[in-house]
Amino acid sequence: MPLLIESQNTPIEVEVLLPIPLPQYFSYAVPADLKSKIQIGIRVEVPFGKSKLYSGLVVGINQQSVHAHPLKEILSVLDDKPIIYPTQLKFWEWMASYYCCTMGEIMQAALPAGLKLDSELRIQPSPNIEEAIPHLDDQEYMIAEALQIQGSLSLDDIRDILGKKQIHKVVQSLLYKGAAWVEEKLKTKYTVKKILCIQLAEPYKSDSKAFEKLLNHDIKQPGQVHVLLAYSMLALGGMPVGKQAVLQKADVGESALKTLIKHGIFVSYKQEISRLTQRLHSEDEAHLLSQAQVAAIEEIEAQFEEKSIVLLHGVTGSGKTNIYIEYIKKAVKSGGQVLFLLPEIALTGQLLARLERWFGQKIQPYHSKMNSQERVEIWNSVAEGQSIIIGARSALFLPFKNLQLIVIDEEHDASYKQKDPNPRYQGRDAALYLGQMFQAKILLGSATPSLESYSQAKQGKYGLVSLTQRFGDLAMPEIQLVDLVEQQKQRSMKSLFSLPLLNAMQETIAQNKQAILFQNRRGYSPYLGCKLCDYTAKCIHCDVNLTYFKGKRILKCTYCGYQTKLIENCPDCNGLLELKGTGTEKVEDELQLIFPDIRIARFDQDSTRNKGAADQILEDFAEQKTDVLAGTQMVTKGLDFEHIRLVGIIQADALLQYPDFRAAERAFQILTQVSGRAGRKGSQGLAIIQTSMPKIAIFADVINHDYLSFYDREIAERKRFNYPPFTRLIEITCKHPLENSAADAAEILASRLKKSLGNRVLGPAIPGISRVQNLHIRTIIIKMERNQSVIEKIKAELLSIRSQLQNAPAMRKLKVVLDIDP
Ligand code: ADP
Ligand code: ZN
Repeated sequence: MPLLIESQNTPIEVEVLLPIPLPQYFSYAVPADLKSKIQIGIRVEVPFGKSKLYSGLVVGINQQSVHAHPLKEILSVLDDKPIIYPTQLKFWEWMASYYCCTMGEIMQAALPAGLKLDSELRIQPSPNIEEAIPHLDDQEYMIAEALQIQGSLSLDDIRDILGKKQIHKVVQSLLYKGAAWVEEKLKTKYTVKKILCIQLAEPYKSDSKAFEKLLNHDIKQPGQVHVLLAYSMLALGGMPVGKQAVLQKADVGESALKTLIKHGIFVSYKQEISRLTQRLHSEDEAHLLSQAQVAAIEEIEAQFEEKSIVLLHGVTGSGKTNIYIEYIKKAVKSGGQVLFLLPEIALTGQLLARLERWFGQKIQPYHSKMNSQERVEIWNSVAEGQSIIIGARSALFLPFKNLQLIVIDEEHDASYKQKDPNPRYQGRDAALYLGQMFQAKILLGSATPSLESYSQAKQGKYGLVSLTQRFGDLAMPEIQLVDLVEQQKQRSMKSLFSLPLLNAMQETIAQNKQAILFQNRRGYSPYLGCKLCDYTAKCIHCDVNLTYFKGKRILKCTYCGYQTKLIENCPDCNGLLELKGTGTEKVEDELQLIFPDIRIARFDQDSTRNKGAADQILEDFAEQKTDVLAGTQMVTKGLDFEHIRLVGIIQADALLQYPDFRAAERAFQILTQVSGRAGRKGSQGLAIIQTSMPKIAIFADVINHDYLSFYDREIAERKRFNYPPFTRLIEITCKHPLENSAADAAEILASRLKKSLGNRVLGPAIPGISRVQNLHIRTIIIKMERNQSVIEKIKAELLSIRSQLQNAPAMRKLKVVLDIDP
């Protein structure tokens, strides 16, 4: 009998998911010696095609042979424990089916490089290679030696060295044993930035009596007393205490502290800053919740009794974070895991620091700017039960076991949507699905909820809780509109700045306060055009104007990265060329010309490319080492600083001119959010919006802080034009190197779709940017009623028509991209 049971439970064949964009799983036979190691969710090394080897994931186990023909065998098993659980597989399967992509694409997106071992992977020696060497076997040792000599190796190099093809297991083992790291192509510049902190030396550190005696009797010099007092206040928070913070709080010069260090009362040490950023030194965030916060918490609690999703609509500065914290505490206390989602990686540092005060090591960050090593570590810790993760959308893929709470902060933010490549998923929506799989509670928060979420809440599908006052009775910022046309008529513009903005800037600086300037364009200038003819400098690969980046003195395409040198004369008529339009670099420059003494930092994609850079810029701003932060959308989101008095929006018009049904919603969100950065802690803030279209209705809503008025008008528009949330959309993009072929393909696709879907199909249309990276583009939109079975049929139909079209010999180079809920 036992024998029989054993043979029944023994895996004979497995289904393996490979990291390739084909829609099916692949079957392999399990050789006898590997049978005991097979589990769902472990990785195996398998042959594929004539000569390829992949590491794939076991997603199914057959206890009988179901294939008539002999199967290829698994070559090796890479893990002892599963790296994902069945819940993750189900989540991936949902995502592949909902967003019309393949499981291989999801796998690519989900796993950090160190777990993918794909053919592009290179490894390099880790800093601990010497310590790891005694634990290596012969083959591993050969590779470790080669790594030390050559610096880095590709998988093919390793094959050459070992003289065999099958090397994934060796590589995996080198990674596990800490001898090697995955080489990061783009992120090599990262060095951990440290700042100087101080702490009490012994015996004062552990003996409070000794410290009191020191303070009350031994130290007499007032400066030194101030330092001691300031330190003990700051140390209350339990976080490292920065040297500068102590000096600032004590309001003394360096010498008092130097003396104390010399006399062995303090020691100084260096501390990595990404862990602390600006909150490091700030006053202890009072642990008391306001009445409004307490009421909101009770209401959320009541809503969660009936509903699994609650939307917290709280104005900017209403203290939503402290409410999240209460819920996170609860979930952690009951042994659950928590996922805290943020739209923007650049924000994690600041929030992490805030949450760390409460949760210490229980909270860890996870996002794509971390290196693969860190990501694999976090990945494994989550699989083992790590309590709290804060991260951008990719954190959804972590191997949670017992997720009890998902917080989705700034739920309205467009950055939750992955635009390219597949899976083109909406992080918020996917989080809702994931949460429901775990029966977790989901708390959505925003000052400007998406129309989707707010309408769900209004219909009672989500709970809705509102906070209408800022924390600490702080006033909402005053918002002024400045009519640029009027200003120009009166000749009161100075460069990009209207008189009211300049005056406000002057006052802000005089009061030693700070300002944020927002302009939604990168670089210096988005066009280079001829003064005489209609020439503008364009990308050679895209139908896009080149942006001038002054820092690097180049013209660059922000779509494909193509760069070229700045030219002075028009290639057509030899006339002089001039730069037109305004990007963040220009805002920075022009402001500096007017105010030569102020310190300006730029906060955009370009200035934060290296890991740690964003945290650094924000920390300098928090410590008032800079006066003005000039940036793109990145400055509009969730930043919380004490000394911002003024927010200036240089050009609001562009926000309203996007050819997108969400343009008005985005504009309202961005303007409200960026204004909301003004006037925290202390005094009322001021936001100045410069526009040449001051009559547009959303400005009135922004000025009056009236979300509901905005919502009512906008939702009526959506209804009138049958847009989401009343319908669902699929955007189909046809791309082809030949313009005619792109157009033909789109025509064929649209007409076939129209046959079965009728007037749900709109287009094809030529988009505003009709060529990118040498591919011509046509788009089609499908507008569908919100009916699950109809939507599923439409997707199936679409996929089948697409594959017919792509299989036609003439369309070999055609790409058809499907974007669900664009
Ligand atoms: P929101 O996310 O709603 O815009 P925040 O959570 O950033 O608001 O809070 C705004 C400010 O109020 C922050 O500086 C925060 O430290 C402070 N704050 C909020 N709640 C409390 C509290 N209970 N005690 C002390 N400070 C608080
Ligand atoms: Zn380009």
